[in-house]
Formats: sequence, structure tokens, C-alpha cells
Amino acid sequence: MTDTRSTCPYCGVGCGVIIESDAGQITGVRGDPDHPANFGRLCSKGSTLHLTATPIVLQTKRLHHPQHRAARGDELQALSWDEANQRIADKLLSLRADHGPDAIGFYISGQLLTEDYHAFNKLARGLVGTNNIDSNSRLCMSSAVVGYKQSLGSDAPPACYEDLDRADCLFITGSNMAWAHPILFRRIEAARAARPEMKIIVVDPRRTETAEFADLHLQIQPGTDVALCLGMLHAMVWEGWIDANFIAEHTEGFDALKALARDMPPAKAARQCGISEADLLQAARWFATSEATLSLYCMGLNQSTSGTAKNTALINLHLASGQIGRPGAGPFSLTGQPNAMGGRETGGMATLLPGHRDPTDADHRAEIARLWGVDALPATAGKTAVELFEAAARGEVKALWLACTNPAQSLPNQALVRAALERCELVILQEAFTGTATAAYADFVLPAATWGEKEGTVTNSERRISRVRAAILPPGEARPDWQIARDIAQRLEVQLRPGLPSLFGVEGPEALWLEHREATRGRDLDITGLTYAMLERSPQQWPCPEAESQGRARLYQDSRFATANGRARFVSRPFAAAADKIDASFALALTTGRMRDQWHGMSRSGAVPRLMAFDARPAVRLNPQDLARRGLKDGGLGKLTTRRGSLVLPMQADETVACGQAYVPMHWGAEFIGGDGINALTQDAFCPDARQPELKFSAMNVQPA
Ligand code: SF4
Repeated sequence: MTDTRSTCPYCGVGCGVIIESDAGQITGVRGDPDHPANFGRLCSKGSTLHLTATPIVLQTKRLHHPQHRAARGDELQALSWDEANQRIADKLLSLRADHGPDAIGFYISGQLLTEDYHAFNKLARGLVGTNNIDSNSRLCMSSAVVGYKQSLGSDAPPACYEDLDRADCLFITGSNMAWAHPILFRRIEAARAARPEMKIIVVDPRRTETAEFADLHLQIQPGTDVALCLGMLHAMVWEGWIDANFIAEHTEGFDALKALARDMPPAKAARQCGISEADLLQAARWFATSEATLSLYCMGLNQSTSGTAKNTALINLHLASGQIGRPGAGPFSLTGQPNAMGGRETGGMATLLPGHRDPTDADHRAEIARLWGVDALPATAGKTAVELFEAAARGEVKALWLACTNPAQSLPNQALVRAALERCELVILQEAFTGTATAAYADFVLPAATWGEKEGTVTNSERRISRVRAAILPPGEARPDWQIARDIAQRLEVQLRPGLPSLFGVEGPEALWLEHREATRGRDLDITGLTYAMLERSPQQWPCPEAESQGRARLYQDSRFATANGRARFVSRPFAAAADKIDASFALALTTGRMRDQWHGMSRSGAVPRLMAFDARPAVRLNPQDLARRGLKDGGLGKLTTRRGSLVLPMQADETVACGQAYVPMHWGAEFIGGDGINALTQDAFCPDARQPELKFSAMNVQPA
């Protein structure tokens, strides 16, 4: 029996796990008692990880060999790695020669390891010559990224998990932490048991399990978060709860924001949000006057056409009340995916470059070109997730290389996504599991190694970098994602860089990580003080520059922010309604969210019967009054229609859903519910700053089916 320390591959909490293996098989998993994210605890998903790697799962649900289909609609046929790599390289070279580098797009994943991200980024930008590389983290965190940058000057979550124990007031908004980040929620429960005076405010259109635990639940209308924050700010100013010294000494832009908030008095904001004025005032009082207030937020803020405005509106409250840079205080975005942070650090997204650099900055491009040993990086703006698929649907992007993600299930507005995949001349899919919806559109399916089989690092929500370790060999011919990218890159180099030294001579993940580490030197996320060996002994938070022996728990403790003049910025954005309009034809506001025991498209978690048992029946939830008003029955079938598509689903009466709203878990794909899955319905309009689509709000109609 062997124990291997690694990290859970599911959510952004980033719990440490110990993988138990014997004779080349994973036999068990337990929480790592020494990991500072979880101290040995695991949730239902983490504690059943070994059941996703049983011999039967490896045999029946994993891809073992490279496959190719001669024509769309044909069966996939196995071929050798050598043949697959050469045919893919030849086709990419031909498309690049005929249509230019921007005809090729990469859509990768927040579930890739940092080393995978680095390899793909160098391949796309340094070799192919396109900024068309984006990640499914676009659907997860891009509003938080831009919000931090606009307000604080850098994409750096300032708080840490220990702040959950130190906060006197928690403001949880747009997050059902009890289900989506369960181990952090257990920590909150323990903190409140130890200090019952701690106040917990939850902002959510649904009465979730998290809201049940709150002292104050603000059950706002979906999409009205900016109005709420402006109303709370108005109250803070009016009541004298702001920290005038902090504002004067460490911020700029407050007068403009104050003028904006003047037009959103608490009574008006409360009306807009559909809550009582007294509750809004109570929330503002607790937020501003508690000794330390920590806000925790996730997709409810981010997945919105106002995603950046919602993030900055919340950070404004922290700046106005001086609730930042102290233990227990600050804005703390929770990442959904296990390595959404790593993607941001490596710049594996269209709008970023490695080391928190900016692709629109010529100096930043030159710095990375020098580090990578290439003449220049492309200057043309890259396409973000939705834009990439829109361009493919128009025929501008001819090839899509997809890794560790299932866009034919997870992207909004599936009709467009599927049309895009159909129109592409080349779709390459790197995937660990069989039967994903995207595989039906792929010309090449390349078997990828996954959790328990590959080496690298991930960064969790609190900036903590942990090692991911292999306990067993991957099944069949499956390979780590970085290696798949590297092997094809080496073939492309023969044509694109004849006679020049290889950009992809690296032999393993540690060498890739060292290249990434160098890109952080002198930057806000500097990790030049870390090594793989150190991370194996103890996961560390960034920054950790060369001169320091351990990472930094909190940022901005000196109240000097990452802007040019060191002052944080109040960002003034008015409240704007969601993109989809509620009207007589589409009278319900549809929101989406996570189930307790499932993960994303369920390709891994759906393989565990115990996890399926919690809630195996797909359904849309409506308030019983809405069901009755429409002649619908609990358990009966309803036809759901939005401006993008329709679906038939069972109805479920649910008092936690407010009248005028509907709720559906995000996980159900076509294999469970037919059609194009849940995302046939959802909205692909996106935030103009963050380009994150509005998955959390769709105007919907429902009729008896
Ligand atoms: Fe894994 Fe997240 Fe559960 Fe921790 S909380 S065990 S990281 S799914």
C-alpha cells in the first residue's frame, strides 16, 4: 500500500488528499491532515474520488487510445499517437498557411494544471502566433479578475481562509457555499459555533442551504446586486458608517461614487431588489460597523452582463468602510474550478499574459517573448470563450483545439456552440472520459491522463499553490495534457521554426513550472522563492519572492494597493438590468446553480453511484404558486422556452424559489435530459469588460408539455 499526497481535482477550495494505492490501482482516498485548506476534511465529492478510478471506471468510462473520424457522423477509429500527432500538425499548418494564425483557436480549462496551461499558452502565442486562447475559467472568474484589477490594481484576492475564523461579519453573496465550497462552509460553521456573535448575511435570490444558516437573508431579485450595493453605500454615507480617514488616505474616486449613490437611497434600492428597507439598512450597518467584515462571492456576481460592475460595487463597500487589509476583513472571491487561479497566473486566457501581464501592453509582450525565446508575441486581440465560438460559427475560426472541457454541454446558447463545432474544419478534443457531448463533434479525440495519474501544481482560492501527484499510471495510452500539447508543438516547429532551437524541449512538468515561475519574477505574484520540493513539503501562498521563505497570507496590510499611485479606486457604475428582458412571453427569471454532490458536466462525479443517489432526477424548480398559476403539476412535465432554445423537464415545487423565478441545476447535459441539455436555455450575452456570459439570468416561459 502506498500513500501519495495530492490535491482534490474538483472545486477551488483546493483540499489536500492522500491517495491510497496498491499494485497500480487507487484503492482509497482520505483528507490530508497537514494541508492548510482542509486539515484532513473532505466533502462528499472529495471523499469518493477513489471511486472515479476503480478498474471498472477505468475500463468503461475512460478513453484509452487516440481516435479519429474520417468524416463527421462516422464512427471514431483508433490510430497511433504518432499518426494522430502528424495528421493534426499537418492540418493545423495547412489552415494556418491558408487563413492565418487567428484561424486557430484554443479553448482550455480551469481544471488543467498550471504546467498544462503554460504549455498551451506558449504553443498558441509563442508558436502558432495567435491570442485566440481562452479557458472555461471565462465562465467562472473573469468578472472577479477585472473587478480586482479595476479596484485594487491587480488580480490578487487579498484575503485567506484563516480570515473565515477571524471575521465578525460574513457577507456571502452569489454563492451557495454550503454546497459549492462545502469544506469552507464547515469552517464557517465551526467559527460561528466558537463565536456565536459573528453575523452572517447571505444575498441570494433563492433560500439556499447557505441562506438557511444566515442571520439575515437578502432574497434579492436576480441581477439587482449593484442596486443593493449602491443602496448600502448610500446608507453608510448617510449614517456616518464610512471610514473617512481610510478613504482620504488610501483611495481615489469617492466623490463620483457618492454622487452616484445619492440617486439610490435605501428605499429605492430595496424596492429594486425586492427586499425590505429595514433589511438593507441592517446589512449596511453590520457590514460597515463590524470589527472585521469579509465578503465571499462567486458565480452569482460573476456570471452576469454586469459582472465587473457587481464585483467593483462590492469592493467599493469594503473601501468605503475600511474593511480590507486586516485579519478577517476584505473582499474574497471564491474560485469555482480547482485551478482557475493557475490559468490567471499563467495568462492562459485571451485577455491575459503570463505573470499577470496584459497582451495589449507592448512591453509586456516583449518581456514574455524574451523569456520564451521568440521574436514577438501576437498583438491582435484574442477572442474570449463566447467570441471564439461565435467566430467559428461565422467560419472565421477554422480549427478549435479543446482540452479538459466539454463546451457542447457547458457553454451557454448551445445552438450557436454546436453550429460552431459543426462548421469548424478541425476539432481536436483532449479528454479523459468517454461519451462527452463534445466528442460527437471532434475529428480527433486524444486520451488524457487525469487526477491520480498526472503531476503538476494548482492554485486555490486563497492563492495557495499545491502539488498534484500521480499515484498510478494512466490507462491505455492516455498522456498528460502538457505532453499532448508538446508533442504536436514539436511537429509544428519543424515547419514554423526550421533550424531554430525548440521551444518545447522540456522533459517534464517541473521544467514547465520553472519556466512559469520565471515569468512571475518581480511581479505581484512573484513565486521565485518556491520550488517543487518546497511545495511538496508545504503548499504555499503567493507572493513568495526569492528573499522570503514562505508565502504571504494577506495582501494590502500596509494599505498600499497595486495601482500606480498606491491608492485603491472607487469604481462608479450605475445599476443596469440583465440582458434578457422579462415580459409577458418570457415571464420567469431562470437562475442556475450547483448540486451538492455533482461537478460541472458530471463526466467524473456522474460515475459514482453514491453521488448520483443524492439527486438523480433532473427537474426545474418553481414556487408552488407559479406552478398552480400555470396549470402545472409537481412531477409533471413542462416545456421550458427561452429566446435561445427549449427543453422538456419535470417540474418540482419548491418554496425556496421565489415567485416569478425558476431554478435549474447547471449539471444536466443532453445524455440525461435530451435535447441540447440545460444550456440550450442559457444566455450568452456577456459583460463588456470581463466577457463573462450571463449564465445566471435567462427570461423563460414554461407551459405544460
Ligand atoms: Fe474537493 Fe472542494 Fe470538496 Fe475540498 S471542498 S474535497 S476541494 S470538492
